[in-house]
Amino acid sequence: MKADADHTGGFTTMSATLDQASALFSAGPGAPPVTIAFGDGIGPEIMAASLRVLKAAGANIACEPITIGEAVYRSGETSGIPAAAWETIRRNKVLFKAPITTPQGGGYKSLNVTMRKALGLFANVRPCSAYAPFVPTLHPAMDVVIVRENEEDLYAGIEHRQTDDVVQCLKLITRPGCERIVRYAFEYARANGRRKVTAFTKDNIMKLTDGLFRRVFDEIAPEYPEIETDHWIIDIGAAKLAAQPDLFDVIVTPNLYGDIVSDIAAEVTGSVGLAPSANIGPHGAMFEAIHGSAPTIAGQDVANPSGLLLAGVMMLVHLGQAEVATRIHNAWKRTLEDGIVTADLARGGAAEAVGTQAFADAVIARLGQAPRTLAPVAYQAGAPLGVPQAAPRRKQAKALVGVDVFVHDDTTDPDTLAARLQAAAVAAPFALTLLTNRGVKVWPQGLPETSLVDHWRARFKAPDGVAPTHADVAALLAALAAAGIDFVKTEQLYTFDGVAGYSLGQGE
Ligand code: NAD
Repeated sequence: MKADADHTGGFTTMSATLDQASALFSAGPGAPPVTIAFGDGIGPEIMAASLRVLKAAGANIACEPITIGEAVYRSGETSGIPAAAWETIRRNKVLFKAPITTPQGGGYKSLNVTMRKALGLFANVRPCSAYAPFVPTLHPAMDVVIVRENEEDLYAGIEHRQTDDVVQCLKLITRPGCERIVRYAFEYARANGRRKVTAFTKDNIMKLTDGLFRRVFDEIAPEYPEIETDHWIIDIGAAKLAAQPDLFDVIVTPNLYGDIVSDIAAEVTGSVGLAPSANIGPHGAMFEAIHGSAPTIAGQDVANPSGLLLAGVMMLVHLGQAEVATRIHNAWKRTLEDGIVTADLARGGAAEAVGTQAFADAVIARLGQAPRTLAPVAYQAGAPLGVPQAAPRRKQAKALVGVDVFVHDDTTDPDTLAARLQAAAVAAPFALTLLTNRGVKVWPQGLPETSLVDHWRARFKAPDGVAPTHADVAALLAALAAAGIDFVKTEQLYTFDGVAGYSLGQGE
């Protein structure tokens, strides 16, 4: 099955299109429908290779192809996905997706981020295993699963420029989001016989956002007494993951940290090209390789189909076809053991490289065989992991106690700005208690060494015993506006059951 393609868009010729089409299949009656996206760059050839293996192994699925990605972006649809494809994906609920090229510039949105968020795919599961000595790695025993929260955190994409100097990105962490992902990680560990779940956060600095993630982790952990737990600050955790991966088993972490540590973990196994991922949600699931569309090697029949093929294995487990998944994974391991690899793994001359399709043929030829050195897999039949629901919560007593007003001002003298703010707000039921610049207290009693930008936070608090209202906040802003203060954002200060729901300034 030789590709006869150009090097820009992968399989674009008639023979290549036929290769794609012939890889699609519809198995026996009752086969679950699976939406297939062939993707861009190397996508079509690794998808064709993966589907051929699935078909030969007896996967019982009904493939339904869609077109998303580069061609759709270029047609003027900036989301990269046409309405008809959304319908197919939502109807079939399971998507097997090859990588997509996101064109640079031009306001194109990342299709991956869009799909994860729009379809509610809250859990991104990335198993990262070493295959030593067949894939060289410093950590031959590595076997870690990263469970990354997929919808929240800095990926909400809510960014603003507020002053000449300052832009901001909103980090959103929710209790239901934390509960769902943490519980999913524990359920995954239990279902897969894993011994330990570790949380990675930065709660020593982000006490409210990352603090919530950790608190939820600590609340849920006792429900799984057979599973060991621990927590690492993300920076040292990531370093330890790279240096001593045997310290970890399942890692659960917010979105951005998960994005970074899952690539570190995959690379430590020997190659990101081998790592699959599952994106799981209440309304569906998406399975893909973690690598991109590798446009420079597209259409040359050299790409490694393993990441996507192993994503297909995860999909079959999700669909309850554990036996077929086991057969494919074991045949794939045996193929590596027999020294058959694609060019990315043949560097160093340890093995001779075969092409993408020849590699798939080698896996097919070994279906039914078990690895001899690597540990064989044995997936369990059973229902896919359920999507945990967040526990219902009691509403807490929420009380407004003040407001942070963010101000654009070019002054370099905090005392002068504080005096202007105090004079403007003289009639409000609030007193100015604090001025910070980039979070550092500069009034009262700041230090002259603190470097300043044109973005200030002015904290106004109501005196004890006074319960301010939204109207009081609006009146304060009106007074500031009348005094020519350029406020660019406000954040109300609330307590919840008497506990401050905001970070405290120094000395507060
Ligand atoms: P990439 O993963 O495509 O490539 C990085 C390097 O790894 C390249 O040298 C490439 O040749 C190599 N490589 C990747 N997959 C390989 C495979 N299966 N076999 C052999 N070698 C492989 O990352 P990139 O170059 O940063 O991104 C290229 C495009 O992919 C961009 O448009 C990016 O937006 C997109 N992308 C898509 C996804 C996705 O769809 N899930 C993920 C990441 C990047």
